[in-house]
This record gives sequence, C-alpha cells and structure tokens, in this order.
Amino acid sequence: MVMSPPTPMMAQYLALKAEAQDCLLFYRMGDFFELFFEDARVAAAVLDIALTARGEHEGERIPMCGVPVHAATAYLQRLIKAGHRVAIAEQTESPEAARKARGSKALVNRAIVRVVTAGTLTEEALLDARTDNWCVAIGEAGGDVALAAADVSTGRFQVILLDPAALPAELARLAPAEVVASEAGDTADLATTTRPKTDFDSGAGEARLKRLFGVATLDGFGQFGRAELAAAGGLVAYLDHTARGALPFLRPPVLHRAATTMAIDAATRESLELTQTTQGQRRGSLLDAVDRTVTGAGARALAADIGAPLMDRAAIDARLDLVGWFHDDAALRERVRAALRALPDIGRALGRLVAGRGGPRDLGQLRDGLDAAWALGERIAVPGAPPLLDQLAPQLRGHGGLIDLLRRALVPSPPIEAGDGGYIAAGYDVALDDLRDAGAGGRRTIAALEAEFRQQTGVTALKIRHNNVLGYHVEVPARAADALMKPDSGFTHRQTLAGVVRFNTPALHEVATKVAQSGAHALAAEAAHLEDLTAQALAVREGIAATADALARLDVAAGLAERAAEGGWARPVLVEDRCFAIEGGRHPVVEAAVARSGGRFVANDCRLSESSRLWLVTGPNMGGKSTFLRQNACIAVLAQAGSYVPATAATLGLVDRLFSRVGASDNLARGRSTFMVEMVETAAILAQATPRSFVILDEVGRGTSTYDGLAIAWAVVEAIHEDNRCRCLFATHYHELTRLAERCDALTLHHVRAREWKGDLVLLHELADGPADRSYGLAVARLAGMAPQTVARAKAVLAKLEAGRAKTGGLAAGLDDLPLFAAAQAAEEQQCDAIRAEVEAIDVDALTPREALDTLYRLKALAREG
Ligand code: ATP
Repeated sequence: MVMSPPTPMMAQYLALKAEAQDCLLFYRMGDFFELFFEDARVAAAVLDIALTARGEHEGERIPMCGVPVHAATAYLQRLIKAGHRVAIAEQTESPEAARKARGSKALVNRAIVRVVTAGTLTEEALLDARTDNWCVAIGEAGGDVALAAADVSTGRFQVILLDPAALPAELARLAPAEVVASEAGDTADLATTTRPKTDFDSGAGEARLKRLFGVATLDGFGQFGRAELAAAGGLVAYLDHTARGALPFLRPPVLHRAATTMAIDAATRESLELTQTTQGQRRGSLLDAVDRTVTGAGARALAADIGAPLMDRAAIDARLDLVGWFHDDAALRERVRAALRALPDIGRALGRLVAGRGGPRDLGQLRDGLDAAWALGERIAVPGAPPLLDQLAPQLRGHGGLIDLLRRALVPSPPIEAGDGGYIAAGYDVALDDLRDAGAGGRRTIAALEAEFRQQTGVTALKIRHNNVLGYHVEVPARAADALMKPDSGFTHRQTLAGVVRFNTPALHEVATKVAQSGAHALAAEAAHLEDLTAQALAVREGIAATADALARLDVAAGLAERAAEGGWARPVLVEDRCFAIEGGRHPVVEAAVARSGGRFVANDCRLSESSRLWLVTGPNMGGKSTFLRQNACIAVLAQAGSYVPATAATLGLVDRLFSRVGASDNLARGRSTFMVEMVETAAILAQATPRSFVILDEVGRGTSTYDGLAIAWAVVEAIHEDNRCRCLFATHYHELTRLAERCDALTLHHVRAREWKGDLVLLHELADGPADRSYGLAVARLAGMAPQTVARAKAVLAKLEAGRAKTGGLAAGLDDLPLFAAAQAAEEQQCDAIRAEVEAIDVDALTPREALDTLYRLKALAREG
C-alpha cells in the first residue's frame, strides 16, 4: 500500500503532540478542542463522548473526539480528576490573518499556550474551595532532601528541608495534587510527574529564583542550601513550563525546617483520620468534626494547621489566646463570622489575575473582599485584644486607594468574562460613556426605523433583527416579501429562508455601522481599563495576599472558638514536662456518631506521667479501647494546632512525634499483607519514637498466630518502656501482658468496663484502673448475633482450653522468670565481657597444641552458659 504523506494539518498536529509528550493534546479547531489518535480514545472513554474518525494517517482512519471550547472547563476537570494532564494548543492567529499572510489554503498557526495539570490550577471551577492545591517538587543534593511546595491559586510558596526518611510523612501532610521530581533522581518513584535533571540543578535554581523575585541575593528569604535551591528551582521551572512563560503567582518562599512541627507519618495520619477518612473522604475526619470556618481560605488554613501541629509553645499560646478571645465573647464572634461569611475568596481571585486568567469578576471580588476586610479591621481593633490580633489588624486595613479605584471603576457585580463588556461603571470614563450613548442612541434609531418601515410597506409582521452573519437586517414573512422585492422599494434582498425573507436598506446600514463601531470601540476601551486596573491590583499583590492570610487566620480562630463553645471544650495548658493529663476527654467524631444514634458518649480521663507513662488497656471488644486511644492522640494534635480540646481540662507536655498503629487492619491497597504492614509500621515507631513522643498502639500482634502475636506484643511493650521511654497507650487483648506491670515500673494497667447482666453483655465504655477481670469474646459474639448453637459450641471449646491452661499454667507460663529485655541484654553483655577477658588472656605463642584444644573447649563452654 502506498502511504501518502501527512496533510499539513496533521503534520502540525504531530509536531505539537511531540512537544506535549505524555499530556493529552487539546487542538483548537474553530469552536472545538479536538483530540486525535490514542488521546481521542482515552478522552472519549473518560468523558463518555462519541469517538469518531477523520481522514487517514499511514493508511488508517484517525480516531477523533472533541469538546466545545465554551464548555472545555468541565471536561478538563474530569480529565484532571482522572489523573491526566492536558496541553492546550490554541490558534495563535486568526484564519483571515493566515490567509492574508500565506494564501487562501494557509493553515492557521497554533502553539501550546498552557499545560493544565492537577498541581497548577487556578480556575475556580477546577479547585475545591476548602482544600489547598499544592504542587510539590522534590530536590536532592549532596545527600540532603528538600521539598518546595506552591499553591499557585493563592501564591503560597514554602521550602522545607527534611530528613530523607521523613519525606513520605511530609508528603502525607501536604497531600499534594501533583509531585514533581527529577527523572534522574532517587525520588522519581514518589513523583506523579518527572522533569529533566537540568531543571533541578541548584545553581540554575538559584538564578531562576533571583530572577523571579527580582533580587540580587536570596538571603532576605533565609539561608537556602543546595537541596532547597534544587527543589525550589525545579518547581519554578515546572510552573514556567506549564504556564508557557506566563509568570506563575508565587510569593517569596517561606523556609521551614520540618522540626518546627509535630512529626506525623502517613500511617498515623491515616489511622487517626486527621484530615480525611481511610476511604479518602473529608466527611467523618477529625478536621470535619472540628471545622466551623465560614470561608474557603479559612478551611484551607485550618486543614493546614491540623496537618502540622506546632512545637513552639509561644506560637501555640498566641493562637489559643485569639481563640479564647472569640470564645469568651459570643456576640463579637458572631459579628466577625457574619462578616467573614459574606467575603469572596480574594486569595484565589488574586491568583487568577496573576496567572492572566482573571476577569472583571475577580477584580470585583478584590474590591468587595478588601473593603469588607477593612471594615472588619476597624471593628476588631479594640483595647485589650490579644497580641496576635494586633499583628493581624493592620494587614486587614490596607489598599484604601485600590478599593476606592475599583469602587469607582467597576459596576456592582461584574461578569466573569470580559468578552461582552459592560463591567466598567458609568461615570468612570467620559469617552466610554459617550461611546455607549452613541450605541444606545443608534439602537433607539433602529427601533424607530422598524416602525417607519412597517408603515411604509404596510407589512405589520416586519421586524428588524440582528445576527452574527448579516448584522442588522429587515425580516418579513415570505408571503409579504413581494412588495419589498420590487426594484424601487428601497430594500435590497439578502437572503431567502423557509418562511422568511431578509433585506437591507441604506438607512439601516448606516445606523447599524455606527452602532457596531461604537460597540467595538467601547469594548476596546473597557478592555484597556481592565488591563490597567489589573496592573494596579497586581502592583500590591503581596499586600493583598497578606490580607487574605489574615482573614483566614481570623476565620480559623473564630471557627475554633465556635466549635469549642458548641461542644463545651477546654483550653489546653501546654507545659514543658512530659505529662499528659486529660480530664473528661472525648472523641469528637465518635461522640457525634454516638449522639446521632441516640446514645451518650462516656468521657474518660487519661493521666500519663513520668511514673506512669505506659498504659496497658485491656477489656472486651467493642468496649471503646480504640476510641480512647485515638481521642487522646487527637487531643494532642488539636492542642498543638492551637485549638481548644474536647475535654473538661487538659494539661500536656509538647509532643514531638505522634505515632498511631492499629493492628490487623487491612491494607491491601498498599500491596503488602496486613501483618507485614503492621510490623513495618511498628518497627518504624520503635526506631523513631523519642521520650517526647506520644504513641498509641492498638492490638499490635493481632495479625498472626497467638504465640507469635503475644511474643511480639510483649517485646514491643518492653522496648517502648525501656528504650523509647515515650508516653504510650497500648491496647491489647493479650491478657498475659498484664504480667509486665510487676516488672516495668512506669507501666500501669487499665481496662474498659463491662458487665454481664442477665446473660447479656453491657459495655460501659468507661475506663477503670487495673486489668480486665476476664475476656468477653463469647459475649460479644452473642451480642453480634452469632447463632446460639455456635456460641454454645464455642463455650464448650473454651471450657476445654481453659482446663488445659489450668494444668500447664497458660500461654504465658514461664514468662514470669524471663528477665526483662534490658536485664537480659545486661546479662548477655556480662557474658561477652567474660569471654573477651578469657580470649585476651591467651598467650597464643606459648600454647601447646593440646592446650590450644583445651582453651577452645573452655571458650565453647563459656559461650554455652548463656
Ligand atoms: P475492638 O477491640 O473490637 O476494636 P474497641 O474496644 O477498640 O473494640 P471501639 O472501636 O473503640 O472499641 O468502640 C466500639 C464502639 O463503641 C464505638 O464505635 C462507639 O459506638 C462505642 N464507643 C466507644 N467509646 C465510647 C464512649 N466513650 N462512649 C460511648 N460509646 C463509645
């Protein structure tokens, strides 16, 4: 078969597609974005639109599908959600211009003007108002690892140096929409997008940052190391690549060292359901149970706070002071929240304007938002306000000049798009007003002409209409057209359609031309004003972004105060020592669920201290052990995030790292067996927990056989107690572990109470001191509706097992004389010392063969003694 070369259009398409690489290519053709080949197949499937074909390429029909330009956003959203990236190839000249320049068959020039990816969105419709949209780049240099994270919808930009081992935890905290890494780096497997190695060169990165922020040195932003420069430089290069040279909105980077926040690894976040549930939903998470913010920016800030609890007591107390201020004054709180509720999201409006994707409505939002912020700033600047407020208030009252300008320049509710004009207010520009008057006058004249033509022709059904092809024209029903067709009628025939005939006249043409001209000039004048107003707003973008941040902080504080008042929460007291004293603690998510089903949540105390830093909690299944463990971990998170806590009183020493491990939970999604995951995560805790850490371990060892499980749980409790020496709540159904209380001095026993009443199990959900008196597995099985004959059979089996246990001393028989881990280690070391001494004493040259043999026997015997 002879293959014809690709058509010029196909050649152009293929070149653009090569440039777009693994992105889907949206190829602009008139009012549609078309997709071809494999792109078309993928998009048609995701979007559920028809797959058609067009022309031939290399002897095959070319698969094709398309989406209308005016509805492209909705389709983009679905493609991005499905994990794709989309390169947009626009027509960069009009068809007329192409014909004029290169002849009648000329192909319109096209170029990729933007790459739309999950991490680089600014469009309101594509973003979730209550979630940050981080694009993260990973930089590596000389063994160091750093992250750079930007949310181009608000311009926030942070750079974080971290321990390579903490990388997954930090990524879990940020939950980025997109992760970018060098294709040649060790971290490429963590990335959703890889870019050339040269983009992550630290020297080039430094130059790129300096250029972006127009500075000669970065020292003003902090001390950047090579890894940080690689990350930040790589990120800026990527944003530049996706925006095709249009500068992304980035505020100067804020440098973080990860140690300023509580370390929480990915597994812990997941198990505590901090910002989303294990199913990935926000509903049902701790964040959801706490969030009473009324703005998108406030919700985003709260999510960030809960994801990164602070380690600095002064900073925590400053936040708590502000929450307390709102907490104690309900009327003030309500006024502030009402004002915030009415606010537009100025951070994101600004983001769109900077990205060159803003419109009149975004300016209108800036005007209204800044105006309301100003009013709010006045209202809250009162004597006796907490210091944090004194810092925030001045940031609310800025930009008076800009507000005034926008107020004069814009109509009250400007449209999203600039295309149809009508957003510049009357009275702002005299020349524009004149053009509009001329247009309006022309339209009035046209209306008058209609009446005149009707009279002149006697056709009462005559109308003057407008469309994009003919412009203004006269339209009459076909049956009345004859009179107008006459040569001397003064009307010129333009078009005959089924039922109607269309005409023009010199008088109409003249007015119509005037209307069109003044309309076009007015549009151009408005566009020029839009550009100027945008430039003026962007000139103070740093300040506007700071105002947006201040509003978000107010919203967070007022929202937390609202939540505290609603739930009767207490202000936590943070102290230096390692205590953890919670009175009447509750789990907000479980409490809400219990209340929904008509129950009452039982509050419980938790009192960890130097002399009782490891609590071993036993009790029946469903008794509330997990809830108790988690509620205390959540209280630590909330307290250090600067929130009141669901308790009647709480005093806690700062927690540097938080760990939560729940045994035997399924984690097939991560491709490891349940027990393997359990052990990997437990190993990580033992390796990382410090005396300042707080650890909850729930049923560790449950995922394997009884002997293995008990042995592992036993060894883990010992290691936590002897080595990590952290504060720990350990829930277990291995009753045998309670024997450890006699030998571990800082370990105490607790249980959740239950009672059997008339053969039924009553779960009291109440924590009490001491071990559980017995296990209630069978009672729970009955409660769960297991058939009576099965329960009866289990009872018989249990009786047999217990008889056996009585004879042998039970599962843990013999463990009582097993020395503690540390003691065992000491004994072993002693023995090693003895062997070492013996070996050192040997004078090898003086030994006879017989003596050498004897010495060997003696050493072997010594080794066996252990
Ligand atoms: P298992 O050992 O089976 O995992 P558990 O002892 O860990 O059980 P939880 O999962 O904490 O028990 O709680 C089981 C249920 O008991 C909860 O879903 C909740 O409905 C109820 N519950 C737990 N704690 C309380 C409480 N303090 N007050 C009221 N109800 C509670």
